[in-house]
Amino acid sequence: MKVFYRKEQVGPVQRSSPSAHKPRLVVEDWKKHFGAAIEICSFEPATEKQLTRAHQSDFVKGVLGCTVANGFGNRDLAVAQTLPYTSGSMVAAAEYAVLHKEVVCSPTSGFHHAGFSSAGGYCTFNGLMVTALALKDAGLVNRVAILDCDAHYGDGTDSIIRALGIDWIEHHTQGHDFWSAASAASGAYERWLTAAIFNCLNCDLVLYQAGADPHIDDPLGGTLTTAQMRERDRTVFQKLGHMPMVWNLAGGYQVVKGESEAERIEPVLALHRETARLHCEIFG
Ligand SMILES: [Zn+2]
Repeated sequence: MKVFYRKEQVGPVQRSSPSAHKPRLVVEDWKKHFGAAIEICSFEPATEKQLTRAHQSDFVKGVLGCTVANGFGNRDLAVAQTLPYTSGSMVAAAEYAVLHKEVVCSPTSGFHHAGFSSAGGYCTFNGLMVTALALKDAGLVNRVAILDCDAHYGDGTDSIIRALGIDWIEHHTQGHDFWSAASAASGAYERWLTAAIFNCLNCDLVLYQAGADPHIDDPLGGTLTTAQMRERDRTVFQKLGHMPMVWNLAGGYQVVKGESEAERIEPVLALHRETARLHCEIFG
């Protein structure tokens, strides 16, 4: 499993969300559990030009220059410096996926609430849209699918699609339709996923947000059982795995008592580990 990871994408620990430092913990966890099956791939950071394809120029300059608040609500230089790397991971993974017709991983989060000229909800720049636009500009794709299975509505993605008048992106975001375990029960979630997957089939690239926060025990999610989440990943990989695809981590907020940060977010690591295990089982 190719993982587009550099240590520069890891930010400082934030009290509100583990997103910024989660990549390091996830990659360490995968190396421990899957060993040589995990292949770390380096990449170049996204350029300011690439970021301004999806965002207003003054907003990008302000965030990178620490005069405008990032998605965590602060102006921390250490956070700003990670941002070209989180989007860069996604862009590089997508380029690789398209050129080699493979399914690969970008261990990133914090994208889908970032709008055209606004950050929020732990998201600063929308790496999904930065990636879609970078590949479209490069002539590598005609249509892109964003299958967003984070618990929350990808409002930032919709905002950018509207602002730029884009008609070549299939955007499906489960957070728009599901907000409780009851709403996702009795096959409702599975029917939604099947329809969304069908609509992704006519695209040249799938960006799959394999969020951990839909889990039933997540304090900010709470819609899907462990079995439903496993089946979600299996269904996406089996039905769309013949297409170029990048999957990423998106949200996950369960915390338990523990000595280390890895121990404290073990429930989240366990969910991402299960997605990675399925990837290795299906794609090698
Ligand atoms: Zn979320």
